[in-house]
Amino acid sequence: MTPPPPSPPFRALTISRRLHTSTYHPTMLWTVVSLLSFAPVMSRSGGGLVDRLMLQRQQQQQQQQQERVVDLSHTLGPDTLFWPGFPGFNLTHLVKGNTSGGFWLEANWISTSEHGGTHLDAPAHFAQGGEHLQDLSVDKFFGPGIVVNASGQAAVNPDFQLGVTDLENWEDQNGRISPQSVVLVNFGWSPRYPDRYRYFNTLTPDDPGTFHFPGIGLQALQWLVQQRDTKLIGVDVPSVDHAQAQNFEGHQFLCAHRIPFVESLTHLDQLPAQGMTVYAVPLSIVGGSGLPVRAFAVVNGAEGMRVWNMWCFLLVWVLAKCL
Ligand SMILES: [Zn+2]
Repeated sequence: MTPPPPSPPFRALTISRRLHTSTYHPTMLWTVVSLLSFAPVMSRSGGGLVDRLMLQRQQQQQQQQQERVVDLSHTLGPDTLFWPGFPGFNLTHLVKGNTSGGFWLEANWISTSEHGGTHLDAPAHFAQGGEHLQDLSVDKFFGPGIVVNASGQAAVNPDFQLGVTDLENWEDQNGRISPQSVVLVNFGWSPRYPDRYRYFNTLTPDDPGTFHFPGIGLQALQWLVQQRDTKLIGVDVPSVDHAQAQNFEGHQFLCAHRIPFVESLTHLDQLPAQGMTVYAVPLSIVGGSGLPVRAFAVVNGAEGMRVWNMWCFLLVWVLAKCL
């Protein structure tokens, strides 16, 4: 009588036992993990399904490894919001049309206040003697990014200030914030843009005293800079300070500590908590205290892959010890 073929779980067991004696190979580890993970399915449905599941997993991994670019900027134009009293954006055609040489030519003259739309504040903005744009090296404007989601708190309380506890909670879930990170806070505020009534959250958008929008509290800013060596900070609200803050205390602190920051970002809800590089680069204007930027994030998924690989390795190690 012919003995029945070994069941899929038995095959998986055999392979994992070889780990004790054979040379480590990543493909083998993956095979072991996959077979063990899908063993219950295999016993019911046979090997063809396993192949399909493994193929799906490989495709999933390839997708995770692909870079994804997220534009974090509002457009700069007639609708751009500026702080009350600051002149808005203007574009005038210097020339636009067919020339006598038979070719098309368009060139414009633009003017804008520095602090409007998605823009970066240089230390000179609130610190006497602080660096202007041309003093800041390019490496100040990009780095590994993390996103703190405060949209829930801001939805309940438009005067919400992000605190140290919120940052510690983020670390509890995601690990310690690395030095020289770019810290972005998503208050869920960008869908209000460019409606000045909704964005400044007031019936009188020419009077900043009536504004109500959230921001990062002074203590949280101090903690980020002094305890976590944060290099760049970004928010999706008009100001890093919440609207009702006294004397722009967060602006004063960051500028005094030579930390640039970006205001009125958008699409932060499309970013993961970490695993990306964030860029927010202004022109190197001589004497500039800030400027609109084209901010964006390159999400690479590498962080997720590292975590996945760590769990795979741990699982195989445990099984190799037990079996
Ligand atoms: Zn500004």
